[in-house]
Amino acid sequence: MSETSKSLNFIEQIIEEDLENGYSKEELRFRFPPEPNGYLHIGHASSICLNFGLGLRYDAPVNLRFDDTNPAKEEQEFVDAIKQDVEWLGFKWDTERYASDYFQQLYDWAVQLIKDGKAYVDNQSSEEMAIQKGTPTVPGIDSPNRKRSIEENLTLFEKMKSGEFGEGTHVLRAKIDMASSNMLMRDPIMYRILHKTHHRTNTDWCIYPMYDWTHGESDYIEQVSHSFCTLEFAMHRELYNWFLDQVYDDKKVRPKQREFARRNLSHTVVSKRKLLQLVEQGYVTGWDDPRMPTISGLRRRGYTPDSIRNFVETIGIAKRDNLIDVSLLEFNIREHLNKITHRVMGVLNPLKLVITNYPDGQTEWLEAENSPEDESAGSREIPFSKELYIEQEDFKEEANKKFFRLKLGGEVRLKNGYIIKAESCTKDTEGNIVEVQCTYDPKSKSGSGTEESLRRVKGTLHWVSIAHAVAAEIRLYDRLFTDESPDTHKDKDFLDFINPNSLEVITGYVEPGLKDAKPGEQFQFQRMGYFCVDKESTEEKLIFNRTVGLRDSWAKIQENN
Ligand code: ATP
Ligand code: MG
Repeated sequence: MSETSKSLNFIEQIIEEDLENGYSKEELRFRFPPEPNGYLHIGHASSICLNFGLGLRYDAPVNLRFDDTNPAKEEQEFVDAIKQDVEWLGFKWDTERYASDYFQQLYDWAVQLIKDGKAYVDNQSSEEMAIQKGTPTVPGIDSPNRKRSIEENLTLFEKMKSGEFGEGTHVLRAKIDMASSNMLMRDPIMYRILHKTHHRTNTDWCIYPMYDWTHGESDYIEQVSHSFCTLEFAMHRELYNWFLDQVYDDKKVRPKQREFARRNLSHTVVSKRKLLQLVEQGYVTGWDDPRMPTISGLRRRGYTPDSIRNFVETIGIAKRDNLIDVSLLEFNIREHLNKITHRVMGVLNPLKLVITNYPDGQTEWLEAENSPEDESAGSREIPFSKELYIEQEDFKEEANKKFFRLKLGGEVRLKNGYIIKAESCTKDTEGNIVEVQCTYDPKSKSGSGTEESLRRVKGTLHWVSIAHAVAAEIRLYDRLFTDESPDTHKDKDFLDFINPNSLEVITGYVEPGLKDAKPGEQFQFQRMGYFCVDKESTEEKLIFNRTVGLRDSWAKIQENN
């Protein structure tokens, strides 16, 4: 095996085998087929990267096909959001398709199936049909309507189409095998009546094709060569093939369905139905709430397309379902943001610090490097003055040797500035420390070249000048669920595991240069994590989302500096 073939995933191997067996490369064609009944989530990213990745690898077209067969749950809003997300992830589709564009063709084929004696109208209740269906171990029994004449079936199907019947009164079923060991082959429903307006076909139709009937035939119409779907469709493959057999012309490409594992992310849910519940029941503020595992939520949280694509590549394509730890996703965004963001200073829990030997009213502009990773990022100037904010947790009256931050009698360096020594502190009536008084060493200024500027002290703290700092709303996020797999408990609902503390809103203070930061801009707040400006941020009110902390806090790494 060559180096490249070794690294092929099993889906690519299937294609390579087909090519070896005489399949023409020109015939390769793929599709990403979302149902427009919700926003895309991180699981979909796997499917998007797989299908569009194959397109790039084999230089083959990839369609974006909306499987829009259920007007009760589908909306234009979802179509628009899906298109935006696929583009944002960095992919281009060949053509934009809709299963609803094929409704007439599907109807014509269904009529042909009736004429061939392979489909019939059933007007029993759904309960009756369910009983006749049997169980996986007990064969089903034929519907009394299975023997209906072709003429009668044609008439009834026509009446279904023209709106003469109510919802749930009639269905069209494929006539396959009520004793099949595959329950899906026991005369599956092809059409149901829905007196609903469709987001594209409006009221043109009141019968709608079922997903199984639609999906494979749509692949065939588009001449998709390989139709990749998730494992829950493995049992559907037999039906997919049966439906294809009815319409297949052997001069054309016959689509091939193959399955791969769904990707599940820990501490969240990846099911549009459940995500919709979170939105509708107000557990989150919308589909793009930064706590949501949706592509739009991740984008608003500050995730980059690169980080998501890298994550998807890292986890790869699998044959078995499994749970991916969300910390792997966080690792990928940290890696990317480390490369591309400027370092700035922001204090989240301010504690006032007064430098008693610093001149009143003086402002000094200190030079600060924008990125240690990238010299070309240059530097900026930040104001320093007598009164500063530091982080509350960076000061203790007394602490052991391992505490490298500020304690009474101890020294630290203020980042880009001077070495200070804590002399005393003031408390409120409840004993909370409200101010720290320090002295500074005027000769110790960073970068000034003096002996004192080179003196090493153990801790370095970030800070902002109180007179110059800009107040900002800071939104800190935690896992949306307390359980790593909230929707897998038999006796509990996933909503029982909602983390009540998944959002904490505080007021922090950032260096003045951030005053005009625009929605979407991203920064590293030194020692505090990666932040991006939220879409709700305005000139009057600056709002930051914390994308991710600097380290995996859940890994319980005890850091003391
Ligand atoms: P959901 O349960 O979230 O509604 P779905 O499978 O019904 O998911 P579709 O819009 O039909 O959503 O999905 C489009 C494509 O994305 C399908 O091919 C589907 O198999 C794939 N897909 C959906 N969820 C995942 C996932 N968690 N991991 C990998 N692929 C997925
Ligand atoms: Mg689906």
